[in-house]
Amino acid sequence: MASDGAAGTPGPTTTSAPWVWPQNALAAISLTYDDGNPSQLDATIPELEAAGFRGSFYLHIARGDMQARAAEWRAAQQRGHEMGNHTVRHAGRGEKYMKRDGRLPAWMPFPLERFTPQMIADEVTAAADWLDKNIGPDPDRTFAYPCNDVAIGDPPDEASYAAAIVRHCFAARGGVDPAVNDPRTVKLLRIAAFDGDGNDPAPLIASCKEALACGGWTVLSFHATERVSHQALLAHLRAGRYWVAPVKTVARYVRAVRQGQPGAAAVIPTTAAAPGA
Ligand SMILES: [Zn+2]
Repeated sequence: MASDGAAGTPGPTTTSAPWVWPQNALAAISLTYDDGNPSQLDATIPELEAAGFRGSFYLHIARGDMQARAAEWRAAQQRGHEMGNHTVRHAGRGEKYMKRDGRLPAWMPFPLERFTPQMIADEVTAAADWLDKNIGPDPDRTFAYPCNDVAIGDPPDEASYAAAIVRHCFAARGGVDPAVNDPRTVKLLRIAAFDGDGNDPAPLIASCKEALACGGWTVLSFHATERVSHQALLAHLRAGRYWVAPVKTVARYVRAVRQGQPGAAAVIPTTAAAPGA
């Protein structure tokens, strides 16, 4: 569980009432797909919908094929998928990606170290504006930190990046800690995700089972999905007592319950797939 001061402690704390997920589920799972790879439109979304699930898609707006397929992404949002903010230019920390000769890769001409607070605010706002105009408004749109890097500037400044995000998004996926998120304590602006890329479904299923065992929330992060592995994961989720929902839907529920709103379950859209349905 990714709870403060209790790293490695299995299961949620027992000092409060049991956490209750909607739809009689024992765990929540969010399936997230980054960068707007066209294979997500062509294969991933049809596989999700065949299973009755909806995912969160964090689009890299500056990529060359984004505008050409914007209408398809827009239609996917209208069918219940989340189209999240992933900035326009997808900047990460240059120190992570610098080549041996000191040059940065072509896809990242401008690293986060060179961003000022105003520049990151403009970057996140530009992405929000593009999404509103091309995909359609979503008051609950969430954010995913590109490259999982959470600081601008040098020395690293996390607060200014977070301040830019909260102007547009109430929750953000950031961090690669494989731990299951504890719904009682997870920081909604730093939701941990498990790296789902690869052709072996076993670690993906194991991370979901871990959530099942402790009543937690596992977020899986993919780029391009491998068909065999993805379908095996979806079959496992359909057969188990999982609530599979976009990040924004689970985060909204977590926030409502923590705020003590008695009607928290009412925030769940009726289109959400029932566990095992
Ligand atoms: Zn990305």
